[in-house]
Amino acid sequence: MEKKSALITGAASGIGRACAERMAREGYGVVVADWNLAGAEEVAAGICAEGLSAIAVCMDVSDEQAVEAGFDRMVEEYGGCDLVMSNAGIQIVHPFEEYPFSDWRRMMAVHADGAFLVSRAAFRRMKRSGKGGRIVFTGSVQSFVGSKLKEPYNFAKHGVAGLAKAIAREGAEDHIYTYTICPSFIRTPLVDKQIPEQAASLGISEEEVVRNIMLRDTVDGVFTTVEDVANTLAFLANDQGALTGQSIRLTHGWAMQ
Ligand code: NAD
Repeated sequence: MEKKSALITGAASGIGRACAERMAREGYGVVVADWNLAGAEEVAAGICAEGLSAIAVCMDVSDEQAVEAGFDRMVEEYGGCDLVMSNAGIQIVHPFEEYPFSDWRRMMAVHADGAFLVSRAAFRRMKRSGKGGRIVFTGSVQSFVGSKLKEPYNFAKHGVAGLAKAIAREGAEDHIYTYTICPSFIRTPLVDKQIPEQAASLGISEEEVVRNIMLRDTVDGVFTTVEDVANTLAFLANDQGALTGQSIRLTHGWAMQ
């Protein structure tokens, strides 16, 4: 039987890494895509050491040529493009009135340009194959709420949920299904970096950032985990379209529908 393939961006760390490892265990050939090639190679090597299949590709998701080349490599290696997770992300926080335009542009390059380029590359190959596929965006609870210091992040994370809905409509006849997984805070390097930065910007302690900002609006004061996201991705990988276009909230009750 032909092996299914999954490409995950930002897979050298955090959520992307856990999802790459999980999809390899689900039997997929996995493309570990990241602009941190050494990190991607380490993750791919770990997967291969378990007797599973993965390759690393160097991909800056805001670079059209690098994205297209990474997808070409995927098709060359695995013969198709079944599942793609547009997950790479950064976070830059500043008070809004001080937010530098250059940082806004850095955020848009990764989150907006990256989501567009990665999903378009996936869509093209899924349509061309005649087999369809699944495109999953990593959204956030920030796709539904607004948070101090995070205007560009809120803008972009609301945007990917809309992008998923539009692609769901356009992809349906070719069996291309799209989803947005929307977690609340997860302890990854991206979040660990924010805790001291937010404490400094807001003039509060790091413990207060965790308790009064990150977990305040959950029903149970509990962080979401990378395993929660990986489980959801594995579940969506078997959806036959019933959930296409939907945003799946993994938020411990924050921003319930
Ligand atoms: P992370 O910092 O652990 O991992 C992000 C990865 O993305 C890194 O390996 C980094 O090298 C890579 N990356 C960044 N810019 C890139 C680019 N231009 N091209 C290719 N790779 C790039 O962060 P994480 O917490 O795992 O975040 C992954 C995604 O999940 C992001 O989109 C983030 O916004 C989203 N998210 C995170 C949380 C959370 O609490 N951690 C919650 C909701 C959503």
